[in-house]
Amino acid sequence: MGFWHTGYIEFHETTGIEDWCRPVPPTHRCMHCGEEFDTADDLRQHRFQAHPIKRPLLFIRGMEIGSTPVTITRSLAPQDVGTGACTSAIVNGVHMPVDHLAATLASIEQDTVRIVLEGEGANASFEIRIEIASDDDMEGVEQAFFRVAHHRRLDVRAIEQFIDGASPYKTAAAYCDGICEYLYGVLAKERSPTSSLRYEAYREKFTRALDKLRTFDRPLANRVGGLVEFHFNHFPEAASLSPGARVGRAANAFATRLSGSSLPESVGQFDGSDEQLEYLLTDWDTEQLIRWAVRDPSELLCEQAEIEKMLRSDPAEYDQTKLHILLAEIGLSSKNRVLVLTHARELRNSPSVSRWADSVIETSKGWGEH
Ligand SMILES: [Zn+2]
Repeated sequence: MGFWHTGYIEFHETTGIEDWCRPVPPTHRCMHCGEEFDTADDLRQHRFQAHPIKRPLLFIRGMEIGSTPVTITRSLAPQDVGTGACTSAIVNGVHMPVDHLAATLASIEQDTVRIVLEGEGANASFEIRIEIASDDDMEGVEQAFFRVAHHRRLDVRAIEQFIDGASPYKTAAAYCDGICEYLYGVLAKERSPTSSLRYEAYREKFTRALDKLRTFDRPLANRVGGLVEFHFNHFPEAASLSPGARVGRAANAFATRLSGSSLPESVGQFDGSDEQLEYLLTDWDTEQLIRWAVRDPSELLCEQAEIEKMLRSDPAEYDQTKLHILLAEIGLSSKNRVLVLTHARELRNSPSVSRWADSVIETSKGWGEH
């Protein structure tokens, strides 16, 4: 049962897509250690200093390109392309000095580009697909999404209507695809009777949505990405995709808890600007989890029964982890050792939270069992 089915909040007409379409400043995250930088240049510099290797490297918008093909959907400017440890390049069979590479790539609108970077003693090959989506087409896809979302019913038919409405916007077809992967995933996750997918298929759909939407720096794409990363318990990633949004705050709250710090007071306050967008995209379980995540553990005590109820309802494994964290937190703040032990012990085998689980079990020693 998702928001679209239940009409969980009163839906208000949006005043226009412009309101929530303000782009967020990009962050540049190192793929090797996770450290974040303000600019692509800072990241590139860090890349060479902190993780030195001799192989030629290719960066696009600060992201290091690996061996998996990458799709570029936004026009490249020459300064978006960076290289390291190489002197010459081969682009689709054409040799050139490496300082011609950026301008060459920036001039391509639609093509699959094979790049070989030649360094001293080592070459590296990359494949990038350039499919530049025009702003008009991306907006067309967003408008089509909103026309369907206004009906507040998510089923296979609604997704088909969205695809129909978005079909004229050809250069943004991958954008529409990514959103559809997510919506089909939500249907499977909510065991919608209209979905032909089995329940477990939602994970693959979510992962594909993330891959396809990653290249679109649009608030709608980032919000879906944030929700998927949040679902998979990738809290820092979710927070960086959706800073300021509810799901980003909720992700931050989990990340803060797991780091052993206490929640800042402002954690529950949203800027409110694009809450509606997020309500439209959020499934019911995630909606509840976001709401609980941002509450102070002492206030959460009165929600304990509801949280336990969700846990008994056999939610997704990833969500069980979040529920155990919340319940152990309630145990911590109310000095209820039994509650802490019951839930923290469930987390000891999951690598990302086991350290936190051990530390709260340690903290609860000596309280006496009540
Ligand atoms: Zn690093």
